[in-house]
Amino acid sequence: MANPTGWKPDMEKGAASAARDEVGLGHATRGLAFEEGLLFERGSRGRTGVSLPKRGSEADPARELPAELLRPEVDGLPEVGELEVVRHFTRLSTWNWGIDTGFYPLGSCTMKYNPKSSEALARLPGFAGAHPLAHPSMAQGALELMYRLERALSEISGFDATSLSPAAGAQGELCGMMVIRAWHTARGNPRKKVLIPDTAHGTNPASSALNGYEVVPVKSGEDGRLHPDAVRAVMDEDVAAIMITNPNTLGIFETHIAEIAEIVHAKGGLVYGDGANMNALLGVARPGDMGFDVMQFNLHKTFATPHGGGGPGSGPVAVKAALVPFLPLPVVAREGERYRLVTDPAERPQTIGKLREFWGNFGMFVRAWALIRELGPDGLRSTAHLAVLNANYVRALLADAYDLPYGTDSLHEVVFTDKNLKPTGVTTMDVAKRLIDHGFHPPTVYFPLVVHGALMIEPTETESKETLERFCAAMRAIAEEAATSPEAVKAAPTKPVRARLDETRAARKPVLRWTPGMKVE
Ligand SMILES: *Cc1c(COP(=O)(O)O)cnc(C)c1O
Repeated sequence: MANPTGWKPDMEKGAASAARDEVGLGHATRGLAFEEGLLFERGSRGRTGVSLPKRGSEADPARELPAELLRPEVDGLPEVGELEVVRHFTRLSTWNWGIDTGFYPLGSCTMKYNPKSSEALARLPGFAGAHPLAHPSMAQGALELMYRLERALSEISGFDATSLSPAAGAQGELCGMMVIRAWHTARGNPRKKVLIPDTAHGTNPASSALNGYEVVPVKSGEDGRLHPDAVRAVMDEDVAAIMITNPNTLGIFETHIAEIAEIVHAKGGLVYGDGANMNALLGVARPGDMGFDVMQFNLHKTFATPHGGGGPGSGPVAVKAALVPFLPLPVVAREGERYRLVTDPAERPQTIGKLREFWGNFGMFVRAWALIRELGPDGLRSTAHLAVLNANYVRALLADAYDLPYGTDSLHEVVFTDKNLKPTGVTTMDVAKRLIDHGFHPPTVYFPLVVHGALMIEPTETESKETLERFCAAMRAIAEEAATSPEAVKAAPTKPVRARLDETRAARKPVLRWTPGMKVE
């Protein structure tokens, strides 16, 4: 499918800026990057960045500490001036890549921007400073926000109720599977197996296994979709549920959900939906209307906060009416104009209990609620339209340069492979590394596992046409370079502060702790 509209993209601009630079890499990676040692290697004995009260003086804070806890000497700490510290961390921060630095096309991860308006609202002192143990009478605003977000998420996804507790997508899955298990157990038969298609996210089998289920893999069809016959063949009365990611990790919409749900329901099983890719469906289709019984959101992918760097995330779980009694506590109840946290299992005897401390990652709720209110129903729908449009634009611009393993229509992300580059010896990993020299974060590589040498690109709805064209110009330049000078691609990256790392060694023998006298290579 090469550019089906016949419309000519404006890629000359990208190519022209590349031509201005001898190495053909545009200005994207020009700039001053400081080499930076460890803080421990700087400074000198006795140097300090702050003035502390004299030891033993009136103002010495140590006077208030019990003598037996005081050490006369603390050895081995960096002794540096203020400027050294500030420059050290500021320089290190320039080595980082972030969504505010540039395009971040990681497929399956939805690294979209975080609107600064949502950030500002999450920092309002009343929200940011709210104590999780504040008496509900003093936290009515926070509880109302949770209540309204819960209602909005249920409406957007087509379910009856949503738990805001889970702290990530994976914990949402765990929670959803615990709810499914509790439902089966309450009916007197917990069952043993969960069906998982080969296009599922890796967390799906993990969540099933953590719930004590045996995982039964189901093969997807040649079109990358899950087919009813494949499910029928393995579905029996020992299967508790099927877990389906929709759109799946190939970025393909699962068109047979209704029929698959019928097959599973007929044998007494439930249908779990991994909703991490909801940005492709917002305002267009509701999983709750398709036959799903449970679904987790990834607020950090679909609603305002890019994920990565360790969080925080949020993975609310939406369920149909029959499963509501099993949801974890707390839930927010509305009584007239007041809001209350239901925390006592006596009120919800079938609850799976408490999933984590306190009430969920509240800061995420504020961001998500702000985004939903800002966009409204029409804005949410255009989010999905733009996410799909952008992925398909990238697909059209690259389809003649990179191998497209599935001809099926793409939704919000598109998967290519390195098959066309085989004769040159250049691999997916080399392409990813060379993109860094062009000033782009690489896409997801070697995932999903069903695709050999996968390059999985998710542009998200927030990137401009020009950004996508520059990215595709870089991808095309790399494909051409692979044919003419593959060794240059294989040597990449050459422009960032660190060249290609020995990833095996970094993973197997990480050096995470500095010790005096150690040599850092
Ligand atoms: C990201 C993702 C997950 C896991 O979510 P985390 O918040 O990273 O735990 C699960 N399923 C799919 C399809 C995903 O893309």
